[in-house]
Amino acid sequence: MSPAIGLFGGTFDPIHNGHLRSAFEVHHALGLSHTYLLPNAIPPHKTGPAIATEHRLAMVELAVAPYPELSVDPRELARPAPSYTVDTLEALRAEHPDTPLCFIIGMDSLLNLPRWHLPQRILELAHLVVCHRPGYRLASDAPVQSWLSRYRCEDPAQLHRQPAGLIHCLEATQLDIASTALRAQMRQGIAPHFLLPPQVVAYIERHGLYGVSHGGTGAKPV
Ligand code: ATP
Repeated sequence: MSPAIGLFGGTFDPIHNGHLRSAFEVHHALGLSHTYLLPNAIPPHKTGPAIATEHRLAMVELAVAPYPELSVDPRELARPAPSYTVDTLEALRAEHPDTPLCFIIGMDSLLNLPRWHLPQRILELAHLVVCHRPGYRLASDAPVQSWLSRYRCEDPAQLHRQPAGLIHCLEATQLDIASTALRAQMRQGIAPHFLLPPQVVAYIERHGLYGVSHGGTGAKPV
């Protein structure tokens, strides 16, 4: 069997250290051969004034540039929104017929699994690797428990022995960072330093994104 690869999907509006640390820790903890970040196409109705797709993509590219184990796969941006994970995984499975695919998500996404589009098919195509996230607890009566009772796997080595079909939860460092909160803070003039990579902060400043005035987030250090 080919070495397992990691996949980390998200809106990345903007990408932040919570995303990056999760992708990085899962990559190394599981010994993945490579991990791809997949920015989603955003449906036009989802948020108010949306940031242009090219900016979200550029920020993800800048964020992963120093790390050879991470790269960007922009395929979802070439399709009309919404981006269904299942469609992306169908395409990746066709390209990598024998490779374990590890789709990395946060706990908030796992709790929503029963509401995803075709979750059963997703588990036929990939494993799910779940990172704990501050503010999201897996309650004993959560609807996703029925999925965990069927598919949960404690032994990470098992993820390398079959191409798909397991859910593995991993104790990665928990960073209480969310894009929604970051956008709100930037609109209030609160600088995002240390929550995003510096090159992403510089990009936001350069392009005046998220209400940050062109040339600086510097006003309030928090
Ligand atoms: P928003 O606040 O706008 O919903 P977000 O910060 O949750 O954004 P997304 O791009 O929607 O970011 O998330 C992509 C993936 O990253 C999801 O699987 C989500 O669970 C995970 N994720 C986001 N932030 C964190 C974090 N701080 N720790 C662990 N996982 C995270």
